[in-house]
Amino acid sequence: MQYDLIVIGSGPAGYVAAIRAGQTGLKTLVIDRKYVGGMCLNWGCIPTKSLLESAKMMRKVRQAGDFGISGIDPEALSFDWQKALQRTNGVVSKLSRGIEFLWKKHGVEYLKAEAKIISANQVQADNRIFETKNILIATGSKTREAKISLRLPLNWKSYTPWRNYRRIPCSMDGEQTWWNWRSSLP
Ligand SMILES: Cc1cc2nc3c(=O)[nH]c(=O)nc-3n(C[C@H](O)[C@H](O)[C@H](O)COP(=O)(O)OP(=O)(O)OC[C@H]3O[C@@H](n4cnc5c(N)ncnc54)[C@H](O)[C@@H]3O)c2cc1C
Repeated sequence: MQYDLIVIGSGPAGYVAAIRAGQTGLKTLVIDRKYVGGMCLNWGCIPTKSLLESAKMMRKVRQAGDFGISGIDPEALSFDWQKALQRTNGVVSKLSRGIEFLWKKHGVEYLKAEAKIISANQVQADNRIFETKNILIATGSKTREAKISLRLPLNWKSYTPWRNYRRIPCSMDGEQTWWNWRSSLP
């Protein structure tokens, strides 16, 4: 199968380029080894903002009395981390489906696989070789461990494990304390 463009990586760089390529009539294939939407949609921008909204909502409800709203007992409020995570996962999957919809609409094909460039016009993935006129490398970046010793008992090596936390990873009203983060680790 001959493509005009193979995009490796479906993060913001890759998926937008693929949509545009499809719109202009290029026969396009996107290959990503993980999730549609890359870091931004699955771990970074989107889920963190969704969780921030949960934190903001908690604070607002807690302060409702100051705004003239009665009947809410701030002491009775509690935070359901699993529920916030569930909502976040819902937002992520909705947006992810949105990207796939746009790809389909513009004739862009998608393959979930590790891609390897084997020549200027060939990409290997899923035990197949795809011929293409152009290749767009949109594979993002990797975390680099800071060479500083802060003696913090946190996992700074990676930002991705947070979606596995069983409990709330830090105070949602802004008071971050290392001990309650630590106790939430899986
Ligand atoms: C916690 C956090 C919060 C953030 N918040 C914001 C924010 O609010 N606003 C903002 O603008 N930015 C934010 N960012 C940054 C943003 O996520 C990145 O700038 C953005 O994701 C980069 O997009 P990208 O397409 O270049 O790469 P990525 O999103 O990293 O996508 C690269 C994709 O390539 C795939 N890939 C890599 N190698 C291969 C291969 N060999 N074969 C197949 N697939 C491969 C990966 O699986 C991945 O899906 C945040 C980042 C983090 C970590």
